Amino acid sequence: MDEVKSFLKEFNEVIRECGKFCYMSRGKEFQQEAVKKLMTLKRKAMSLKEKMIKVENEDLANTMLSLENLIDAMINELKMWIALKEDKPNEAWDFLINAQSAVRTAAQAHEIAINLNAEGYGNKLHLLEKLLFPPQIFFSPGFVIKKAECSICGKEYGECEHVVGKAYMGKICYKIIKEVELREISIVEYPADKHARALQFTDDKGVTRDFMTWRRIEKDE
Ligand SMILES: [Zn+2]
Repeated sequence: MDEVKSFLKEFNEVIRECGKFCYMSRGKEFQQEAVKKLMTLKRKAMSLKEKMIKVENEDLANTMLSLENLIDAMINELKMWIALKEDKPNEAWDFLINAQSAVRTAAQAHEIAINLNAEGYGNKLHLLEKLLFPPQIFFSPGFVIKKAECSICGKEYGECEHVVGKAYMGKICYKIIKEVELREISIVEYPADKHARALQFTDDKGVTRDFMTWRRIEKDE
């Protein structure tokens, strides 16, 4: 449809323009401005997606879901740079992880992400993780799912034809966990969720420090 085509043109322009500010050295005020521009673009993408869902055009609904997530990834990258300048590395980490998962969702949603080089963007975000932050300690919960529902149709997962990670009419299918049995928490190198990490540690002298900044954390008694 023409509407999606003209949106794509606008998308390419705004992404090119805002991509100029995805560097540490750029002025914070330009990065904040770029976030605003991208938020407006994201709202447009979402309403166009809703429109495509309404007319039941699945291919275009999924296309819009993909674009929406690519925009979201850049918003989060810019917020990461801003947070780093504001000396908030823990927040910056969360923005980076959000950006990474948005790129993954974009790639799952529609193959348009391949043409828009989502893979290259994902690689850049992976490099930033390694270059900007010290190695992290991640926690991974080991559990057995006893009961899960399909997010698309609400049936018990496995009893319908929907597959986790695939897009259906503008939505990614995931399991809604209804019953779970937690087995253990383990420390892993490659976790499913990089938000779950050690925030502080206590050294052999009994000093507690922020894992990211090395700053001392005073315990309030
Ligand atoms: Zn289903």
